[in-house]
Amino acid sequence: MTYDVIVIGSGPGGYVAAIRAAQLGMKTAIVEKYPTLGGTCLNVGCIPSKALLDSSEHYHNAAHTFETHGINLKDLKVNLKQMIARKDDVVKQNVDGIQFLMKKNKIDVHQGLGSFVDKNTIKVTKDDGKSEEITGKNIIIATGSKPANLPFIELDKDRIITSTEALKLKEIPKHMIVIGGGVIGMELGSVYGRLGAKVSVVEYMDGIIPTMDKTMGKELQKSLKKLGFDFYLKHKVTGVTKKGKEVTVVAEDSKGEKVEIKGDYVLVSIGRRPYTDGLNAEAAGVKLTERGQVEVNDHLQTNVSNIYAIGDVVKGAMLAHKAEEEGVFVAETIAGQKPHINYLLIPGVVYTWPEVASVGYTEEQLKEKGIKYKAGKFPFMASGRARASMDTDGLVKVLADASTDEILGVHMIGPRTADMIAEAVVAMEYRASAEDIARMSHAHPTYTEAFKEACLAATDNRALHV
Ligand code: FAD
Ligand code: NAD
Repeated sequence: MTYDVIVIGSGPGGYVAAIRAAQLGMKTAIVEKYPTLGGTCLNVGCIPSKALLDSSEHYHNAAHTFETHGINLKDLKVNLKQMIARKDDVVKQNVDGIQFLMKKNKIDVHQGLGSFVDKNTIKVTKDDGKSEEITGKNIIIATGSKPANLPFIELDKDRIITSTEALKLKEIPKHMIVIGGGVIGMELGSVYGRLGAKVSVVEYMDGIIPTMDKTMGKELQKSLKKLGFDFYLKHKVTGVTKKGKEVTVVAEDSKGEKVEIKGDYVLVSIGRRPYTDGLNAEAAGVKLTERGQVEVNDHLQTNVSNIYAIGDVVKGAMLAHKAEEEGVFVAETIAGQKPHINYLLIPGVVYTWPEVASVGYTEEQLKEKGIKYKAGKFPFMASGRARASMDTDGLVKVLADASTDEILGVHMIGPRTADMIAEAVVAMEYRASAEDIARMSHAHPTYTEAFKEACLAATDNRALHV
């Protein structure tokens, strides 16, 4: 059987590409080396981390804010085993859902490692060594990414771990040292910080979540300090060792002084690397970049015209929804349509509490590009809804063009901003001005009023409630 499309990898990029291809009437197959579908995101990424973030936030609130709400609890304690089991159940519901979607869309699932034989043939090898060959007119590489590491760190996956192990610990660390103050470090650090662990973050740059607007990192750092986080910024890690249950991280500060931090777990979260191991891309003549990504043009097509690549394995942000957009884009391109992705408007979210959410240009990028802008800010401290829920940390910042008032960037840190950012994406997709949003009714009391108020602030500094 020759397929119209074979997708290699069943993460959010791959499974969405397969569904869209099937919707467009193409005979589609998906190849996945793991027994469950859904890739990093569903199995060891987005979904399990959010499940643990939700559980740990419940515990944190029960321990720290319930009393103020007038709810007294006795003998509160964490049942980590149950917390992890619930997380596993959430993962199962999601990965089973993908299996169902494959069936519903009549997509053939081939379980096994997919490797190129030539530009149209994929060999699928199962764990028991048995293999089959399938052929496709078009192939989509969606093999994702794996955690990156530093050359001198030996990951023992017991106490020196990556995000994958951090999602299934058997005990709450006493002191978790997080190497890398990016998204994974802040999210998984928060999980264990809320459950009572001391968390120390060692970050190379001068701020956490450094790719986002600088105000976001500064505000998040303040909130996480309240949770008991310590930050070692501008620190370069030079060594990690383990002796029994004790781990030691050695770093150099900005003056070149040696700093030693001792704990019982080290989470290495310094980024992820594109994953093409075992794919045998060279057999099809597919070029990789120096960084190991599959090289693609603006149509996400590789140097071999019937082979495309999407998601974490290609350039750009390593985000599930970016991978999904690319999956749809490639399926529609193969079907002869002319799709479009506006990469500037792919939002980024950090699911800490407060949540951080951003879309468009950061203030630093606007300065660098020499674009004249106005900034409007609104603190959640001034929001009635946030006071009611005791979530007053954070703010919304709107950046608008100085002469046209068009919204160029929106950066939010506060309660439920992960959901609120969608309004900013819609506004920017339709090229709204700050005043457009400022003149729209936002239900009261809601957190979304903070976006309207920040837009008012950007429009002639006329916020109403601050
Ligand atoms: P992946 O999801 O990595 O899927 C690739 C799949 O391909 C895997 O299942 C792999 O087994 C399979 N595969 C690889 N090679 C082969 C082969 N040769 N043959 C067969 N199968 C193969 N992103 C967000 O947007 N929001 C979040 O909240 C979020 N949270 C995250 C939390 C954590 C802890 C981590 C680690 C990541 C998180 N991400 C999040 C990032 C997100 O998981 C990735 O951006 C996303 O999964 C990328 O999708 P993908 O389809 O490109 O690849
Ligand atoms: P990241 O790129 O977000 O952060 C890595 C951090 O490590 C950076 O701040 C970097 O400066 C720092 N760093 C790098 N080398 C270092 C060193 N030697 N010493 C100290 N610090 C060092 O990477 P991540 O947190 O590992 O996440 C990986 C990917 O997964 C990201 O691209 C992210 O987009 C994705 N992800 C997304 C979400 C989400 O959308 N909510 C959640 C988790 C992961």
